Amino acid sequence: MDIHLQEQYDEVLRRNPGEAEFHQAVAEVFSSLGTVVAKHPHYADAAVISRLCEPERQIIFRVPWTDDNGRIHINRAFRVEFNSALGPYKGGLRFHPSVYLGIIKFLGFEQIFKNALTGLPIGGGKGGSDFDPKGRSDGEIMRFCQSLMTELYRHIGEYTDVPAGDIGVGGREIGYLFGQYKRITNRYESGVLTGKGLSWGGSRVRTEATGYGTVYFVDEMLRARGESLDGKRVTVSGSGNVAIYAIEKVHELGGTVVACSDSAGYAVDEKGIDLNLLKQVKEVRRGRISEYADLRGGDASFVADGTIWDVPADVALPCATQNELTEEGALALVKGGCQVVAEGANMPCTPEATKVFSGAGVLFAPGKAANAGGVATSALEMQQNASRDSWSFEYTEERLGNIMRGIHDRCLEAADEYGSPGDYQFGANVAGFIRVADAMLALGVI
Ligand code: NDP
Repeated sequence: MDIHLQEQYDEVLRRNPGEAEFHQAVAEVFSSLGTVVAKHPHYADAAVISRLCEPERQIIFRVPWTDDNGRIHINRAFRVEFNSALGPYKGGLRFHPSVYLGIIKFLGFEQIFKNALTGLPIGGGKGGSDFDPKGRSDGEIMRFCQSLMTELYRHIGEYTDVPAGDIGVGGREIGYLFGQYKRITNRYESGVLTGKGLSWGGSRVRTEATGYGTVYFVDEMLRARGESLDGKRVTVSGSGNVAIYAIEKVHELGGTVVACSDSAGYAVDEKGIDLNLLKQVKEVRRGRISEYADLRGGDASFVADGTIWDVPADVALPCATQNELTEEGALALVKGGCQVVAEGANMPCTPEATKVFSGAGVLFAPGKAANAGGVATSALEMQQNASRDSWSFEYTEERLGNIMRGIHDRCLEAADEYGSPGDYQFGANVAGFIRVADAMLALGVI
């Protein structure tokens, strides 16, 4: 790491003790910025990098709620409003027991560069709670969402901060959150949340956007080397929102997804994952991936030990959670002949895993580029809300496809210009950084 950047990094460690995921995300971005700061010393002079690493605002609050048996629970919730140089803070809310400030800060930091890469007017933020939605009834989920919004509403707004979904937060939760926002403020302010239902201000393609966008990105990477997804074997970790729609688009483009997973294990299905059955199990019954394998019968098997990366594939799409693909998983993928890895999730590959990929010549797309289709379509939802319009599926998907191609090209151009041709990770960091840094310089020291 460049010596100036190393000093900044040491300062990040000192000011944010115990936040390992945030440190990891900062180190990953800094590892690409050496040539940029050498070429443009004014970024260092204006302390752009140290300002970027300090969130503009961090909100932490208590969320009390009552379960179906009348027992009172207390959770902790966060909203980190990281950077608004390019537009209102934009980023999802995550409900998962592992959530703490360091996870939200890593996600918010990543979001700044991701949102910049889309070319759209959105700043970076993220939020969530250590609430565990697994096994909770609809009523419990609703009361939790209402309690969370009773505090959060005062910090958000269509021109201020626009949350969306993430792990554990889908259309149902966004509905309860929006309902409480509307009730408290007495405003039908559609643009305050994205990921809404189609009949009350949502955008077509938002549900599919992150998974579809990731696969569009892979398609572009393959196209750049004269190949396509047609006939490729693909593995997809996770079986939530991102994974399901990544699988759908892979199948549409002629590839076959032969395995997917959840936190309890993975299902191998050599004939190709049956998407209708998977949606039934995961979206309707909110069940486990082992149930998918049981219901599919002889064609599929469930594996509780080991990792999905042991299954040989041409393309691997980690779409579950941070640091799920380690050095060991990366070595297994390389051994199985993998040529492309694209992150549908945020930071699913450890730094050791990405080193294995670059050493083996595996094409690697970082989440901030590959999974940006979700937030980009959220920005399209905001556009539709602002103009009180509702676009067709075809038109919205075409916009998503163009945005993903734009991100792909921006990564390659920046990688070329700053001395690391073909390196998508490097290019994504550099292109995202330059856009947000230039806006920060223009806005002065604020
Ligand atoms: P969901 O809650 O819909 O799905 C998450 C999936 O990941 C579930 O199948 C879950 O299994 C699995 N999972 C969670 N933890 C682990 C683990 N430790 N090991 C294996 N599997 C695990 O979330 P999303 O699909 O929305 O999000 C997935 C990832 O994509 C996250 O990193 C998120 O930040 C990122 N992302 C999401 C966007 C979106 O639009 N939704 C946009 C951009 C990025 P289980 O049910 O067992 O917990």
